[in-house]
Amino acid sequence: MAKLTFYGGVEEIGGNKILLEDNGTKIFLDFGMSFSKRGLYFEEFLTPRTANGLGDFLEMKLIPDVTNIYREDLLEHLGRKSEDPDVQGVVLSHAHADHANYISFLHQDIPIYCGETCKYILEAVDEQSQRSIENEVLSFKKRPLFRSNYRKPSIKRRFKTFRTGDKIHIDSLEIEPIHTDHSVPGAYGFIIHTSEGAVVYTGDLRMHGLHANMTEDFMNAAKESKPIAMITEGTRINIEKTDESEQKVYNDSKKEILNCKHLSIVDFNFKDVDRFTTFHRMSKDLGKKFVISFKHACFLEKYHKDKKIKAPDSRDENILILKPRRMTGTYINEDYTDRYIKERLDYPNIITAEEINKDPNEYMIVLNFWYFNTLIDLKPHGGTYIHSLSEPFNEEMEISYERMHNWLKHFNLRFVQSHCSGHICGPDLKELINDINPRELYPIHTEHPDLFRKLDMKTTMIKEGKKYKL
Ligand SMILES: [Zn+2]
Ligand SMILES: [Zn+2]
Repeated sequence: MAKLTFYGGVEEIGGNKILLEDNGTKIFLDFGMSFSKRGLYFEEFLTPRTANGLGDFLEMKLIPDVTNIYREDLLEHLGRKSEDPDVQGVVLSHAHADHANYISFLHQDIPIYCGETCKYILEAVDEQSQRSIENEVLSFKKRPLFRSNYRKPSIKRRFKTFRTGDKIHIDSLEIEPIHTDHSVPGAYGFIIHTSEGAVVYTGDLRMHGLHANMTEDFMNAAKESKPIAMITEGTRINIEKTDESEQKVYNDSKKEILNCKHLSIVDFNFKDVDRFTTFHRMSKDLGKKFVISFKHACFLEKYHKDKKIKAPDSRDENILILKPRRMTGTYINEDYTDRYIKERLDYPNIITAEEINKDPNEYMIVLNFWYFNTLIDLKPHGGTYIHSLSEPFNEEMEISYERMHNWLKHFNLRFVQSHCSGHICGPDLKELINDINPRELYPIHTEHPDLFRKLDMKTTMIKEGKKYKL
C-alpha cells in the first residue's frame, strides 16, 4: 500500500517535505525550509537559536515532530534518545532553499539523491554561508558545539547524484528523474514507480523559459507512465499567460542600459544561470565589464566546472570581482577572514569601488539590495538599477522594497523592473496537468489550492500531516 504525507508546502509556497511510503520503504521528496512558517515568528534579528538545537524549530513547528529521521546529536541535545533512521532516502528536486535546506536536520545515514548540478550549487552555497544549524546541508559538527569540537572532523552527509535517464532504486521503489526547466539549473521532476502505480512529482517548473523542451520531456514521460497520482506545484495557478521571457528581459534591460550614461546595476538571483547568461551576454554586447562579488564567484566557478552549463570562469577577462571594504576599510589582505574571499584575493581581476568610480559607464555591476551600503563607496550620481527579481509578495518584502527605493532615490538611480518567473503560469499548468492526466491530483507549493478544483480532475485538498492512501 502506497501512502503520501505532506509535512510542508501545504497552502504555502515552498517548504516541501513529502513522505512517500510503499511496502515498508520510506522516502522524502524534498525537505525544504518553509519561509512562510519561519516568517510567522522570526525575522532578521530574531532567529531560531542554534543553542537550543532542534528545540526552537520543533516548538514553533518549523519542522515536523516525527520519529526516526533526525540527527542523533540534535535529539540527544534535546534530551531525547537517539533514533535509528527509518527513511531510506531524500530525493531533492532542485537546490532552492525551500526544497533542500532542512536536510540539515536529518540523520547523516539517510542518503540524499539529487542532480549533479544541484550538488554543485549546494556546494557553492555551503562555501560562503555562515555556520548555522539551518545551513548544515553538506556536513555538520556534533552539537552542542564545544570549543574542543571545533577541530574535530565534520560528519559528511551521503550524497548520490543522478542525471536524466538514470533509474534510482531505493529498496522496492524505482524512481526516474527527468530534467525540467526552472529558475535554477539541475531541476528535476520525478516518476516514482510504487506497488500501486506511478506517482509523478513536478518539483518547481515552467513552460515559458529557455529550456521548455526539458519540461516537455518530463511531461511526455509522466504522461506515458499513466500516473495514479500527481503532486504538482501551483505557485502561479492564479496568473494568466504573460509575454515574459528571458529574451524580453534581455531586450528591455539592454534598452535601459544603453540609455544610461552612468553606472548600471543589475540585481538577480545568482542561482539562476539563465539570468546570469542574459546579463553577462548583455555586458559583452555593450562593451562593458561585468562586476560580480566574491560570493558570486563561488557560484560561477561551480557552473564553469559543470560541463552542461556553458558559463565562463570567474577569472574570465570580461569579469571583475568587487573587493568589499572590511575591518580597516583599506583593502589590506589582513582585512579578510572569510575563507571564500581569502582564497581568491590573488585573482588578477579584482577591482575596488574607487576604481569603478573613475569611469562608471564602463561597468555593469551585480548588486543585491542587501549590499546596498556598497553604493556609498560607488557614489553613483544617476544611473540605472534593473530589478530582475520577483516583486514583493508579502509584508516583510514590502518593507524592504520601500527601503530599497529610498536608497535608489538617494543616489538618483532609475528603477526598472524586468523579470521572468521560474514558475509555470495558470494556463500552461492546466495544459500540463490535462496532458499528463493523472488519476488524482495533489496540489502543493501554492497559496491557491482551491483553484485546482476548477479543473475537471479528481483533486485532493491536502491537510498537513494527514496520511493519504493511494
Ligand atoms: Zn519552490
Ligand atoms: Zn524553486
